[in-house]
Amino acid sequence: MKMKLFIVATPIGNLEDITFRAVQTLKDVDFIAAEDTRQSKKLLDRYDIETKMTSFHAQSGDAKTLQIIDRIKAGETCALISDAGTPGISDPGFRLTRAATKQGITIVPIPGPSALTTLISAAGFPTDKFTFHGFLPHKKGRQTLIKSFTEAAQSQIVYESVHRFPKLLKELQEHVGGQRMICVGRELTKMHEEIWRGSVDQAVAHFNKDNTKGEFVLIIAPESFTIA
Ligand code: SAM
Repeated sequence: MKMKLFIVATPIGNLEDITFRAVQTLKDVDFIAAEDTRQSKKLLDRYDIETKMTSFHAQSGDAKTLQIIDRIKAGETCALISDAGTPGISDPGFRLTRAATKQGITIVPIPGPSALTTLISAAGFPTDKFTFHGFLPHKKGRQTLIKSFTEAAQSQIVYESVHRFPKLLKELQEHVGGQRMICVGRELTKMHEEIWRGSVDQAVAHFNKDNTKGEFVLIIAPESFTIA
């Protein structure tokens, strides 16, 4: 029998954004490794998925990884899900996938939403080529990286936490310039979804009230790009 680990993409906000194949896989596997089992329970309840969960998150050490690998090697099938979106994109998912591949376990991706591709698809920014940074470093190297966006020939894409979003806009203003075009995806697929396009200066003026809450993806266009 083939040992299998399914990598299952789940919604980034709207619980209806899940594929038939993802739901069926989550029902069929012997267990689910979830980043936050309480968060994922809402999704499982919505689709009557009764499969047992075990947690696998950023703080899970090697022992937990091995425990999951050992269960798969003993014949159980496992689905890995993250809090939202596609496991392995700016979350701890890759650690389990890496360990599984080393053990000869077959990885089966079940594709679906990601905050990254969701914003790219709607931005209308040049994204046939782009650089994705995930979360920017909090301290060391942050300023240098942001400065490097100034000369970049292709769009730069970052994830940002709610706490640092206003700070990031100010940093872009200072290091990249107020005229640079950005696209902000806030609360994508959720009730208060906002896809905002404009200059950094306009963004600083716009995002200054309740609209600094939520989850954010940012696309920073190359200097040559204008919204005309
Ligand atoms: N693996 C996920 C994916 O495929 O998008 C990303 C996981 S990362 C830990 C979480 C970050 O993704 C958030 O801090 C935010 O930057 C972005 N994100 C997730 N859901 C989002 C949403 N609904 N709207 C905007 N950004 C979102």
